[in-house]
Amino acid sequence: MEGRLVKNTAVRRFHLQAADDCLAWAQRAYTDSQQCQLDFWSWATGLERHQLLRRDFLQGQSLLAESGAWPWLRLQRRAGKLVIKLFAGFKAGKPQVVRVIPRSLLKVELASGPEIIRWFPPLNLPQKPWDWFILFFDELLAKLDGASAEIVDVCPVCSRWFIRARADKKEWCSVACRSRAVYRQRKQKQERRKLTKQAKVERNPRSENGPQPGT
Ligand SMILES: [Zn+2]
Repeated sequence: MEGRLVKNTAVRRFHLQAADDCLAWAQRAYTDSQQCQLDFWSWATGLERHQLLRRDFLQGQSLLAESGAWPWLRLQRRAGKLVIKLFAGFKAGKPQVVRVIPRSLLKVELASGPEIIRWFPPLNLPQKPWDWFILFFDELLAKLDGASAEIVDVCPVCSRWFIRARADKKEWCSVACRSRAVYRQRKQKQERRKLTKQAKVERNPRSENGPQPGT
């Protein structure tokens, strides 16, 4: 174990968490389009869902309004397929290429204040909803650069690809999956104990009333 892992700084952990939020979104089984939309903007902007929904938060309101008619469920399923293809290829040593929107170094003048540098697509903003996803996705993946390869894994409970911010800590994708795994282990142990007890009774039937039907 020793020396196997690359230590993550706080900033890196923050980025890894954001990347994991993105992967979680892409692989969830959404049925509600609005929920899917909210979760997307939540990981893409770093804002909480309740913040996005606040009436006085104009940026959140316009994001939600402008993307209201996007085919969210279709978009999300496509994203899920891409994530799985990409990470499965990575683990299998067969890298997959993702076509990203070309970016350029831009000088942008803020409404009040100085000019700032942006590394962004040259044609204003992406036109298609899918381009937005690719843009954010590309940014998150770029932040995985240099991290320990072991942080990418498949959850043994729900089979989703996830990224652990601390490579030595997390075996499951979420607290919910960890609870499920612990519950399952406990159940299996109980089951094994029951079977051992049953086997003993069968070997020595006089100690009990005989085997029960249907057990
Ligand atoms: Zn899981």
